[in-house]
Amino acid sequence: MQRSALQSKRELFFKSDTVSGGGVSASVPPSAAPPAPPSTLKDALSKRSATLPEPQETNHVEANGIATKHSNSVSVDVSKPPSTAPPPTPAPPVPISAPPAPVPTPLRSTENIMKKAEHPPVAPKPDLPKIEKPKTKELDGYVGFANLPNQVYRKAVKKGFEFTLMVVGESGLGKSTLINSLFLTEVYDKDKHPGPSLRVKKTVGVETSVVLLKENGVNLTLTIVDTPGFGDAVDNSNCWQPIIDFVESKYEEFLNAESRVARKAAPPDTRVHCCLYFIAPSGHGLKPLDVEFMQRLGDKVNIIPVIAKADTMTPEECKDFKEQIMKEIGQHKIKIYDFPESTGEEGDGADVTKSLRARVPFAVVGANTVIEQDGRRIRGRKYPWGIAEVENLEHCDFLALRNMVIRTHLQDLKDVTSSVHYENYRCRKLAGLSHDGKPHRTNSNNLCPQGLMNSFMTVWNPLAQMEEEKREHDLKMEKMESEMEQIFQTKVRDKRAKLKESEAELARRHEATRRALEAQARELDERQRALNAERAAWERDTGLSLDDLRRRSLEANSKETVDGKEKKDKKKKDWSFKSVATGISI
Ligand code: GDP
Repeated sequence: MQRSALQSKRELFFKSDTVSGGGVSASVPPSAAPPAPPSTLKDALSKRSATLPEPQETNHVEANGIATKHSNSVSVDVSKPPSTAPPPTPAPPVPISAPPAPVPTPLRSTENIMKKAEHPPVAPKPDLPKIEKPKTKELDGYVGFANLPNQVYRKAVKKGFEFTLMVVGESGLGKSTLINSLFLTEVYDKDKHPGPSLRVKKTVGVETSVVLLKENGVNLTLTIVDTPGFGDAVDNSNCWQPIIDFVESKYEEFLNAESRVARKAAPPDTRVHCCLYFIAPSGHGLKPLDVEFMQRLGDKVNIIPVIAKADTMTPEECKDFKEQIMKEIGQHKIKIYDFPESTGEEGDGADVTKSLRARVPFAVVGANTVIEQDGRRIRGRKYPWGIAEVENLEHCDFLALRNMVIRTHLQDLKDVTSSVHYENYRCRKLAGLSHDGKPHRTNSNNLCPQGLMNSFMTVWNPLAQMEEEKREHDLKMEKMESEMEQIFQTKVRDKRAKLKESEAELARRHEATRRALEAQARELDERQRALNAERAAWERDTGLSLDDLRRRSLEANSKETVDGKEKKDKKKKDWSFKSVATGISI
């Protein structure tokens, strides 16, 4: 098939991605059909098909040596062999029509790991029932599915968007200033984010800051990943490792969330979608560290090279520097994010995108200050000889960078992260390979072809995957059980210790109370004795005994009682006489 001259590397990448997917599907028995490609890839494919003049069929040689036909149109069943094709045989690959044009190494190709694996001989495909293309029917009236895009739009706006942007480069290159300029807000607070000299660290760290941005009712959760300390040491060997670890840990998190038995429909996407790599404006091309970093991270994250502090170079110097950088990127086979030419926009929009695309690597100027000039408010850097305007395409590429990253290609960056970098990671992970593509040494099972095969079967066989998940689940449960047992034992130990403590406390209190009571009893005895002694002394002094005294007082009391009674009787009598005389009864 003849490719059009305009077909971009991006299209080639998607082509190779399709090939790898197809290769896998052919290598498994028909009963264990491969899972459908992620929807994002479908979107990307449909986008790509929109850029091509006609849906054309292409021939691809599969990893296992079977030639199958693929169509650029996503509506065609790619797994179905064409009715006119000869019956499949395990013979060596033979292209059906003219051999494909030599494909340059794509900048963003899914590593076809399946190709590297030894596949067992594949049984010839049985003839599948022919699926007819649906016919287009005219509708008599308005049904309503034309409103579907609006429903999708509303849902997306309601849910909000997530984007993770990583900035890498030496301290002082203006990373934080540029981030603030990009989002027109203080993403980095001055208080929390001190100047470069205060932030220099001996080792590379990875710090994230999350901000919620709102624009016209659309919410964007922006995560900025900063890498303070990168390239600041005298010996910078391996300073990219914490960054690789961070990027992969995010893929790992996503993979775990995705492969849970009870998983969410859309797990939170914290993967790094874009990495702005800051190149110092030295004018001398890339430094070894720049090359090393971009080579190592190029197939893990979308790298966009950025020339920092472009206002320190003249336009000619800047142009030469850009050319030098692009030359070196090509020489070292560095994979950077390849902005697709078409974003679905038509007319002027598409032309503008094309012209902005040519500005890579973006030479940017960052500034947090807004200057008033001729009634205009300009974000820029003021010098005695003039103002370097941030948002002026004649002064720097800041606007191009912002438009491309945020306005036109944000979704594409997410799609490529998901369908290329994450898929690469997933394949590597499930095939038991480490980030450098070598087998994991810790898992000797994966070193043998059988181990690799098992991993592949796990990827493409849902039953095996479920079994794997069950095994993992059982292991987790066992681990949890033993942890709970340990926690229980610790709690019992604690409780016992507490009980012993309270027992001792009680015994202490009991002893104290006993001692207090004994002391009181002693005191009472003491007082009793003193009283007795006093009584005896009194009896001696007065010649009376206490019993005599008691008797006398009793006698006196009884006498008083008798006198009182007599008086009362007398009063009563007087009253009754009076009442008889007056005729009143009482
Ligand atoms: P970071 O350490 O990479 O985050 O760098 P900062 O954003 O803290 O900036 C370091 C210094 O460079 C500050 O004094 C900024 O004002 C200055 N700076 C930032 N961007 C530019 C730029 O585009 N041009 C020039 N000349 N200076 C800049």
